[in-house]
Amino acid sequence: YEQAKALTFKDYGEPPNVLSLHGHSIPPPHGEHMTIRFLASPINPADINQIQGVYPSKPTFTTALGTVNPIAVAGNEGVAEVIALGDKAKAEGFKKGDWVIMKGPGFGTWRTHASATPADVVKLEDEVREGITPIQAGTVSVNPCTAYRMLRDFTPLKEGEWFIQNGANSGVGRAAIQLGKAWGLKSINVIRARDEKSQEEKLRQDLKSIGADVVITDAELQAQGIRDMSKEWTNGGREPIRLALNCVNGKAATAMAKLLAGSSHFVTYGAMSKQPLTIPASMLIFKDIHFDGFWVSKWADRNPEAKKKTVEDVLWLMRKGDFKDVPLDEIMWEWETKGEDLIAKVKDTLEGYREGKGIFVF
Ligand code: NDP
Repeated sequence: YEQAKALTFKDYGEPPNVLSLHGHSIPPPHGEHMTIRFLASPINPADINQIQGVYPSKPTFTTALGTVNPIAVAGNEGVAEVIALGDKAKAEGFKKGDWVIMKGPGFGTWRTHASATPADVVKLEDEVREGITPIQAGTVSVNPCTAYRMLRDFTPLKEGEWFIQNGANSGVGRAAIQLGKAWGLKSINVIRARDEKSQEEKLRQDLKSIGADVVITDAELQAQGIRDMSKEWTNGGREPIRLALNCVNGKAATAMAKLLAGSSHFVTYGAMSKQPLTIPASMLIFKDIHFDGFWVSKWADRNPEAKKKTVEDVLWLMRKGDFKDVPLDEIMWEWETKGEDLIAKVKDTLEGYREGKGIFVF
């Protein structure tokens, strides 16, 4: 039997109130079952929303982990190693030591070990995994894939053309900067202003160092004269801004849409400010701006092969050194680590203006 611990919840609510560390054991795997050991699992905003009960994809509540009442394991993304497996799983091409990522949301990745079947996971082939760290493999399938598809699937951007995005220092935003750079695109990146100007400057330089062409604050975006500045950046407006990626909403998002060329696409993928998105009718009628939404989970469900290919492509860029890790706060999860310490770290991620995204490392 394999001993396991998991961060679980039985009711929806604020993570510090509902999460608890649950210990259980996993029987030796038979048939198509595999025992997997997690290596790295990030704390994404969607994980928090899922625990709060406000995320459309729901976790699986089960009594299979030895509780009287059904519980769910938190976390949606991560990478794990196969440590034992049944004959049927072997026949499907899995072996001990393989690395697997989750096929979709809802599996529960904030745990040391789990029982999984081939239907739950995607294997990273040995050549795909070469030179890749657990942290890279554990964070490749949500944020980089989201940025990748949004840059590719809404409007064909030619080399030298521009996109604009807010939430530019988010995981998705940093991925978009780096993918854009690798593909010869130029980017205008909106961040939230910092009270501490030296912090703001540090962030600007940080984003420029990974390939951002222009970095402005949300206040600068909404100030007078932004149109003239935008013209300056884009060669007198001769290099059109054809795509906007919206992580935030609110007034600053509307200001971003105003910089788009006619018939461009404005893709919303996040809701960080919790404000609605307001669109002047003239943008739809006269400027023919297309307002789209994107959800990587639904896209991956519909396009499993393309998802695999996208992941492999990003891992290849990482291996080449063209794609740097986002700043991370590595949370070591040892066997002795107390539940309250892990839960305190989850709570930290609810606050904004962070230095890095939390990730459990086992
Ligand atoms: P990160 O945790 O890496 O970053 C969070 C970002 O949100 C930071 O840029 C932060 O800026 C900003 N932020 C936090 N609070 C606010 C606020 N009140 N107003 C404005 N900005 C704020 O996030 P991810 O990259 O993992 O995710 C970003 C968003 O994208 C989330 O909403 C997430 O759910 C969504 N997402 C959607 C996907 C999809 O398929 N649709 C896939 C992946 C992510 P600051 O540093 O200034 O605090």
